[in-house]
Amino acid sequence: MSNPMVQPTGPVLVLGAAGTGKTTLLVEAVAGRIRAAERPALVLALTRQAASELRDRIVRAAGRTTLAPQVMTVHALCLTLVARFAAPDDAGPGLLTAPEQEFRIRELLRSSPAPWPAELDAALGTRAFAQQVRAVLARARQLGLDPEDLSGAGAASGEFGWAAVGAFMGEYLDVLDAEGVIDYAELVHRARLLLEQEGVLEAVRAEYAVVLVDDWCELDAAQIGLVRALAGDAVPVVALADPDTAIYRFRGAHPRATAEFVRLFPGARVVTLPHAHRQPPAQVAACTAVARRLGAPAVEREALAAYRGVTGGGAGRVEVRTFPDEATHARHLAAELRAAHLDDQVPWGDMAVLVRAGRTQLPPLARALIDAGIPVEVAGDEIGLASELAVRPLLLGLEVAGAGGQPDGDQATRLLLSGWGGYDAVGLRAVGRRLRAADPAAAGAPTETLVAEALAGVRAVPEADEELAARRDLLARATALVAREQRPEAVLWELWSGTGWPERLRADAVRGGDASARAHHDLDAVCALFDLARTSQGPGGQPGVSWFAAEVAQQQIPADSQRESAVGGRGVRLLTAHRAKGRHWSLVVVAGVQEGIWPDVRRRGSVFDPQRLGASEAGPELALGLTTRDLVATERRLFLLACSRAEGRLIVTAVEGTEGEEDRPSRFLAELGVPPRHLVSTPPALHTLRQLVAELRRTAQDDAASPALREAAAARLAVLADATDDEGFALAPDADPARWWGVHEPTSTVAPAREGPIRLSPSQVESLLTCPRKYFLSREARAEPPREIRTILGSVIHAVAERAASGELAPDDVAAALDAVWASIPFPAAWLSASERAEADAAVRRFLNWQAGHDHADLVGVEVPFSADVTVNGRPVQLVGAVDRLERRSDGALKVVDFKTGRSAPTQKAAEVTPQIGVYQLAIEAGGFRDAGTTSAGASLVYLRVEDGEGWPKEFRQPSLTEKPHLTDDPEELAHPTWVHHQVARACAVLEAGRFDAQAGEHCTYCPVRSSCPARSGQVIA
Ligand code: SF4
Repeated sequence: MSNPMVQPTGPVLVLGAAGTGKTTLLVEAVAGRIRAAERPALVLALTRQAASELRDRIVRAAGRTTLAPQVMTVHALCLTLVARFAAPDDAGPGLLTAPEQEFRIRELLRSSPAPWPAELDAALGTRAFAQQVRAVLARARQLGLDPEDLSGAGAASGEFGWAAVGAFMGEYLDVLDAEGVIDYAELVHRARLLLEQEGVLEAVRAEYAVVLVDDWCELDAAQIGLVRALAGDAVPVVALADPDTAIYRFRGAHPRATAEFVRLFPGARVVTLPHAHRQPPAQVAACTAVARRLGAPAVEREALAAYRGVTGGGAGRVEVRTFPDEATHARHLAAELRAAHLDDQVPWGDMAVLVRAGRTQLPPLARALIDAGIPVEVAGDEIGLASELAVRPLLLGLEVAGAGGQPDGDQATRLLLSGWGGYDAVGLRAVGRRLRAADPAAAGAPTETLVAEALAGVRAVPEADEELAARRDLLARATALVAREQRPEAVLWELWSGTGWPERLRADAVRGGDASARAHHDLDAVCALFDLARTSQGPGGQPGVSWFAAEVAQQQIPADSQRESAVGGRGVRLLTAHRAKGRHWSLVVVAGVQEGIWPDVRRRGSVFDPQRLGASEAGPELALGLTTRDLVATERRLFLLACSRAEGRLIVTAVEGTEGEEDRPSRFLAELGVPPRHLVSTPPALHTLRQLVAELRRTAQDDAASPALREAAAARLAVLADATDDEGFALAPDADPARWWGVHEPTSTVAPAREGPIRLSPSQVESLLTCPRKYFLSREARAEPPREIRTILGSVIHAVAERAASGELAPDDVAAALDAVWASIPFPAAWLSASERAEADAAVRRFLNWQAGHDHADLVGVEVPFSADVTVNGRPVQLVGAVDRLERRSDGALKVVDFKTGRSAPTQKAAEVTPQIGVYQLAIEAGGFRDAGTTSAGASLVYLRVEDGEGWPKEFRQPSLTEKPHLTDDPEELAHPTWVHHQVARACAVLEAGRFDAQAGEHCTYCPVRSSCPARSGQVIA
């Protein structure tokens, strides 16, 4: 087939799926023109990055030449036109970047006299509102509409908010005019107007023999109009299009761009590229299966058949994998990438992991891969800065300094347990003990309160705690800087440079090994924070701190091409699918394809949806906007785009868990037509020094291995333990038995003495008995990750049920109470919010049914606090907490009801031995509710999200301690007055021994610290 881009005589539409060589043909055609010294072609690319890459490829293909290819974005072309042809006063306008434009809009909105409807008052100052107004202004300009058109469309449809945006648009354009600046949409608008001036069009057309447009389907209506005006019938236009992977509709890309080409350029020739040279047949088949679910582009039937009937070439495969949880998913991903690099010699830079949601999916994935020693590259603006572990303590320190330098207990603990503070949980507890020892009045005060007071400078710091004193002084200096109206940059610098943390990170970074990758990443994140602080336009002092904190939290920097181009191709690229447009890698993992995340059908404009704005022959109008079906189609195109980035091997992954909708693979996974493999464990591999050391250690200590094998393993370990790098640092420090757990004697065989009675809540008892490691990490070391949606939902259902039970909330007001909090729950998708809402409504309805059936009960109270002293094994124990609901029977005995919001209920047998409600019973008997009674009538677990078949929640009863004082014949249990005493004694024994071993079981499925658990992974912890 001849190259349709060489010497075209009229308009040509080149239709080709990914990998069919559109860009290669373009490069060859332009390079050929350059070599033949013909009149140049104008090449329009989608982004600056794409333009720069195309330019490089053309220059390489053309060989040594003095002619430079004319490759630019539409915006660059417009800037050139304005600079060249506009009146001298208008020729050099400043161009507002997207964040600058948003900033101006926010400023203007604060003082806007536009007639905003009263219901928008609360929204006017918010960033989301400014973003939506900005999108509407851009859309209006793309459609060639003026402020009056917008106001007219709003007034005609009775939507006065839209009419007010029209008035605001007038003000906005006047202000920008006065300042001599314009935005991108206005730039295109002005360039189009210039082309209507006499002589301009002729001058431009005389310069180009042909216009070649890459990614035609991503142009908006204004850009398409500009190309049409520029070329007319005089200059042939060749448009390269892959409508099935057009993804920028939310930015205004024309929804029927191919049909528009055929309409605007009558007689256009449609050429299809039938062969995907670099994609294996399996990948082409999978992508075609997805594409068939998309609406067909408006081209002739034969062209469509050829476009969608593309054939593949090259070697490779497609794999679809699911995993039981995120941790297994991340481990497996790391193992696959490493194996591809070491076994198949795929360079790190020729692999990519693509995700849908940058903010929520990239940070944990990047952390997991870096921790596994995979070199990873993420463009600076892909990960929310506020999510970076190294950035968090600096931001927190800034926040505390901005608030007067008085951290609360939680803030103080988080600061001290971070890289900035330098303490670990054990060290911090030791500080707490010393602070208590130094002040008899502080006996019994929690560590977090004491360290907060010490950091705030209101409690003396013992001499031994120099580091704590240094942090206190540093925080005081930062606070003084804020008081002196210094900008956040200066305060952050004080906090950062005042500890040994930067030096530690630097040393780790240059040392190599796994810690090096993490240190490099942390240093990059801190640099990005300082970059942002330097360019932040906020004020100084306390207002500046709040401004900057909000700016970082929302990370108001969209795509930053500088950072993008700074990515050097030395690691596996981690990026969002949108960023992958125009790129290819040998191995591509499309990761975390979960329902609720992909498709993401949240609407981008809740007040003003720019997609509602249209312009028909009758004039501007407000239509219904995108339907959910349209949104799903856009997401499917994005998924197809991601899957078509591979040129060899494609892996598509999802987590298939058991809890909630977010744990379900996306519907798109099945559309690939490739049967998924469910993998529950990581493949054994010896790809890293760490894995080798771990395997050798396992063998050296394996009683079942032959003595010769164990000896050989030990000998190799000895060699590895002695190996050092050029600077004398150990290459495999974990090979040295001096660092092995379980080989050393504990630093102290005596657990720290616990003074006074042990304080335990019923849930702590249960947690200690279920898995001591989980208890320690989540309760004492506070290593629990942020609360997941299901936990937040549980709290909401609980709170509403509690208010309904106390009579504070009438049954008819329950829905309104849920409405009031629902909007603030950060659901990843609107449909998920809707489905969870339906579940929450059902749970509360069940509760109301249940409560109606308990009308007869004498309700003592809801959320009733208690404190009861018991003695177990001669040890005083204080039981503390609150019961969800306490009822009194006619005989005066008390019954505890505990509401649960989990989706799976236990068996009756399991409920009877549940320690938590057993401890409630013990608290009753020990006088925890003395005023109400001291006899337990038993306890109940009520599962609000599990129906019993008759509209009620499932309820499980635990017999009273009088009915059933013991559950087994175990002599240890019988030695205690009741089985609950025995359980409390066991929990105390764990605390007193100070050993928090992992105890695996079904409960591991929902464990928040399972990713690091040796009991789950089988790994050796060094
Ligand atoms: S994963 Fe299981 S064994 Fe490990 S800490 Fe969590 S609950 Fe305990």
